[in-house]
Formats: sequence, C-alpha cells, structure tokens
Amino acid sequence: MKLLVTGGAGYVGSVCAKVLLEQDHEVVVVDDLSTGNGDAVPDGAQFVEADMVDVAPKLLGDGSFDGVLHFASKILVGESVEVPERYWHSNVTKTLQLLEAIRAAGVPRLVFSSTAATYGEPESVPITEDAPARPTSAYGATKLAIDHAITSYAIAHGLAATSLRYFNIAGAYAGLGERHPVETHLIPLVLQVATGRRSEILVFGNDWPTPDGTCIRDYIHVGDLADAHLLALQTAQPGEHRIYNLGNGTGFSVREVIASCERVTGMSIAARDVERRPGDPAVLIASSEKAITELGWKPLRTTIDEIVSDAWEFTRSRT
Ligand code: UDP
Repeated sequence: MKLLVTGGAGYVGSVCAKVLLEQDHEVVVVDDLSTGNGDAVPDGAQFVEADMVDVAPKLLGDGSFDGVLHFASKILVGESVEVPERYWHSNVTKTLQLLEAIRAAGVPRLVFSSTAATYGEPESVPITEDAPARPTSAYGATKLAIDHAITSYAIAHGLAATSLRYFNIAGAYAGLGERHPVETHLIPLVLQVATGRRSEILVFGNDWPTPDGTCIRDYIHVGDLADAHLLALQTAQPGEHRIYNLGNGTGFSVREVIASCERVTGMSIAARDVERRPGDPAVLIASSEKAITELGWKPLRTTIDEIVSDAWEFTRSRT
C-alpha cells in the first residue's frame, strides 16, 4: 500500500514507518519537526518537512494513497491543561483539516493514534473500549473529539477507520526510541539517572491504593504497538470506525519499573518520594482482548525487563 504517515519523525510514527517499510509498503512521511527529529525518519521513506495541513490536500489529491496513519499531535498532558488552546488547535482544528483532505481525495483508510487518556479516571480495570470516556485533560478531550469526528466520517463517507488507544508506550525498535524535547515519561527519566544526566528520579506519590503505594501503569512495547497499526490497515472495513485499546494487559508500579531499570542497567537508581502529581489515576491497565480477537494482534515483548532493555540500549546508543 502507499501510505501517508503524519508525525513520522516522532517516536511512535517513526517506528511505525519503519515497520511499514519492512513489510514493503510505500511510505511518505510528513512532519514539521516541531517536536520530531529528521534523522528518525527511516531510510526508504520519502520525507516532506512541512505542516501536514499545508501539504496534505496536494499530496493526497493525486488519488494514489491507500491510507493515512495520523500520529502528528501534541502529547503533553500537563501542558494541555495549562495551554488548552494549543491542543485544540493542533490536535483538533488541524486534524479536521486533514480529515477533509482525506475525504476530498477519497483516501480509503485511516489509522489514528488515540490514547488511554480518553477514558480519564477509570471506574474499573482492566479498561475495555466500552468504558465511559471522561477525559481529565484537554489532551484526552482533543483525542476523544477526533475519535467522534472520525466515526461520523466513516459512516457518512465510507472511510475504513481505526483508532488505537495507546496505554504507556515504551521501549525502542531498530534504533528508534523516545527522544522528546521535554521528557516527562517514567522509563526514559529513570534511565537518565542511570546515565548520570539526572541525579534522581522523583516518585510521584507513595500513598496510592496499590500494593506498594505507587501508581500502576500498563507499559506496551513500541514494536508491538507498530504491529497493531499494520493489522488495523489490513482489517479495516469501509464505513466502519473501530476502536481498540493497546496495552500489555499487565500493570507495573513505579517502584517495579525502577527495580527493572536497576536490573537491566546493573546500577543503583536514586529515587525520592514526593507529592502525588495532579491528575494521575492510581491504576491504568488496558484490556486488549478486542485487539487480540478482532485484529489478531499478539504483543510479543511483554515483560518489563524486555521493554526496559530495549529502551536502555537506545539510551546508551545516544549518550
Ligand atoms: N512518574 C513518576 N516520576 C516521574 C515521572 C512519572 O513517579 O518522574 C509516574 C507517574 O506519576 C505515573 C507513572 O510514573 O504514575 C507513569 O508516568 P508517565 O508520565 O510515564 O506516563 P502517564 O501514565 O502519565 O501517561
């Protein structure tokens, strides 16, 4: 298939572009490099450095594309609460323009990176796709708004669409890993302590209702995540918008993640307990049963040590 990958210079977008190329798809990456890295665009992809809304109508307009994988987005939960307008503009206004370009060009398939943040504080775990969607951040709200828009486009215009709701993505694939300009995620931050870039990791809360008092999250390997995108492209049906959660199905606490980083790096990691981070739910674990059953997806790297090992190899390659 010939595929347009928006945000293909970012972490998840670049890994997905790589996996698509490995499966002999033709890939065009569009990324404005506002947060991505040009050198992350995999060899073999055509790279257009631009804002997707400026180039999508022309690129897609020749009618040669079989699908769009839309990753380009702002992703910082805290920033989205402080500067929501930036998120509504980038994640919603621009995506609506992209959807219009897709419709006008008659592109048949769309895969959208959605998020567990669409659910907000869960009533029960594991979280299934029919759980109430009550996002607690503008980030989650913007992704949910686009999910609704996609549903209506699929019904009205016959688009074969899939939204994949990611839980905590981690690890690295083929030399491509997490390199955010502002790093807020647990595993890369803990590994920065191992490399000496950071003196300690702050543990946000030790009084959560969990066995060791720290928050539990569902970490999914970025390579497994990429596999699900391929399956989504293959199985999508015209006129349907399917939504799948993607996680490991197993949760790990902040302390368990730090312990894994110590095992993998062979170093002792300095950690200090501090106040809870506002907006953090205690436990987020996905039910990925629907993706496993309907997409035929099978996560392959499910232990926390495998995930951390790949992240560590990537971190070391860049320090
Ligand atoms: N966390 C932490 N210290 C940090 C960064 C994160 O204790 O410096 C915790 C955070 O409170 C959450 C978990 O680690 O419970 C995962 O956070 P992350 O930001 O990686 O992902 P999120 O679950 O917020 O999407």
